[in-house]
Amino acid sequence: MIEIDFNPENMEKCLCAECPVQAKSSCVKDQWKEMEEASSADIDSGFVVDPEKVPKLYCATGKTICGDLYFHEECQCKDCDVWKENDLEARGAPAYFCKNGEASECCEIDVEEDESREAKLRELRRTYYTPV
Ligand code: SF4
Ligand code: SF4
Repeated sequence: MIEIDFNPENMEKCLCAECPVQAKSSCVKDQWKEMEEASSADIDSGFVVDPEKVPKLYCATGKTICGDLYFHEECQCKDCDVWKENDLEARGAPAYFCKNGEASECCEIDVEEDESREAKLRELRRTYYTPV
């Protein structure tokens, strides 16, 4: 089991903001707007965004609360430094954390042999991504 920290360093590394899976989501656009407003608010106002409403770093926070993401686009996680630094490939992460939930919940694929594990991962990823 692996826990990814919800911190500014990982936020900076996260590639979800450029991901086509959520690029057209109006719900996600509203979340970005809320984040912008929070970041420009007076620090004493106490206006902070709930992590579950932050449209990135899903490997730390878990599934999106938005219902209009398009999972047939390709997840960007495998190019992300958080993915690489935490060895999420070897840990069996299926990526698409916005759909599958946080890394601590989804990264243990119960398959012993490498070949079977690879096949299982390919199957999981193909479920979401349909190249055009
Ligand atoms: S692994 Fe995916 S969800 Fe996690 S920080 Fe990287 S791009 Fe974001
Ligand atoms: S977890 Fe993957 S699919 Fe979801 S928004 Fe981030 S990069 Fe895209």
